[in-house]
Amino acid sequence: MPEPTTPLAERPWEAVERMLDVDAALARVLAAFRPLPVEEATLLDACGRILAEDVVARNSVPPFRNSAMDGYAVRAEDVSAATWDAPVELDVSARVAAGQGGVVACQPGSAVRIMTGAPLPASADAVVRFEETDEGRGSGAPERQTVRIFRSPAVGDNVREAGEDIAVESVVARRGQRLGPADLGLLASVGCAAVPVHRRPVVAILSTGDEVVAPHEPLSPGKIRDSNAVVLAAMARAWGAEVQMLGVARDTAPDLTGRLAAGRAADLIVTSGGVSLGDYDVVKDVLRAEGEVSIWQVRMKPGKPLAFGRIGTTPLLGLPGNPVAAAVSFILYGRAAILRLAGHDEVGLPTIEVVTAECHDNRGQRRHFVRVRLERRDDGTIVARSVGEQGAGVLSSLAAADALLVIPESRDRVPAGTRLRAIPLQW
Ligand code: AMP
Ligand code: MG
Repeated sequence: MPEPTTPLAERPWEAVERMLDVDAALARVLAAFRPLPVEEATLLDACGRILAEDVVARNSVPPFRNSAMDGYAVRAEDVSAATWDAPVELDVSARVAAGQGGVVACQPGSAVRIMTGAPLPASADAVVRFEETDEGRGSGAPERQTVRIFRSPAVGDNVREAGEDIAVESVVARRGQRLGPADLGLLASVGCAAVPVHRRPVVAILSTGDEVVAPHEPLSPGKIRDSNAVVLAAMARAWGAEVQMLGVARDTAPDLTGRLAAGRAADLIVTSGGVSLGDYDVVKDVLRAEGEVSIWQVRMKPGKPLAFGRIGTTPLLGLPGNPVAAAVSFILYGRAAILRLAGHDEVGLPTIEVVTAECHDNRGQRRHFVRVRLERRDDGTIVARSVGEQGAGVLSSLAAADALLVIPESRDRVPAGTRLRAIPLQW
């Protein structure tokens, strides 16, 4: 068995920093992050990112008055007597298609055959849908183009006014806003093809452990496959980061040091494993040697040890190795850091109110994040039912969960039927 790189007695880690609660740990992590610089991104590349400046409409939407239906543009007063039994017949003076420029007039007593999106003739004030006309089929002589109108429209029927969606010079998207698909469409419609957004955070992910092998590698005795890297990477991506995979480091200082060096250009390095107090947990020693990293013990369950600091100038978050502890810690601290880097104002985790289905013991004054399934009752309340096994290494129970029920550290026992908050797991 290899010897630990530094004899135990010489390790400064025995002075692990005092116990923090989750809120204090989060505040310390967040204090190290600022929004990343702003860059110009094309609309599609800006999806999910935070807009850095207000965008003002250069044109109104729609830019011109147009038809909302395929039908006949008319002057409502000309057909005010029209009914199914006594239609009004009008001459058809022109036809306009979508995309057609130029001015088409609608003389009194006549109609213009018009397609959806085509500019409305100047003097027309309503559109009658094809379904409410005979589409000209009743015309007597073939050379005479007429249409019979069966319904009397109100002024404005099936007419889209210029600017009814967006007025020119109005603010279509605000600084600090997260751009979703519909926002991108608004920007496109006002002629904005690229926008200033905060740069996407780059998150480098490193697994550690002599026992850990990549998922595609064969398992030999004593080995397990790396599940943390993909879980953490998928979460980081869902929160808007780009990921850089640093692989799996052996529990030796040279291997760790080399792999960490590859992540120096990232905005955040995330490691898993090696931060507890085992003999081979060299991560913490290397972290200290390479930068300024402290380990805290956080009053939470699962996940107690958490390392945080810098390797050179790159922030590093050292998560515990147990898969559920790593995932829960990343949800609590990593998500907030990534959102802050990406420029979000609000980085807090959304929570919902739930009612516990069963009694929970929570001794030890730690905040307990219990894997639960949510069930909606007929009266609208949401019941949080434990998925069962809550071990820090049991990933299948995280996969089976809809949410993390939050049992405050102040409660050592929570009876069934208690109202608490839960963090929905939605990536
Ligand atoms: P550690 O924090 O390094 O002591 O690891 C705690 C537990 O998590 C051990 O049982 C490890 O084998 C396991 N573990 C560490 N890293 C990973 C990983 N990347 N994927 C799955 N399990 C891991
Ligand atoms: Mg380890």
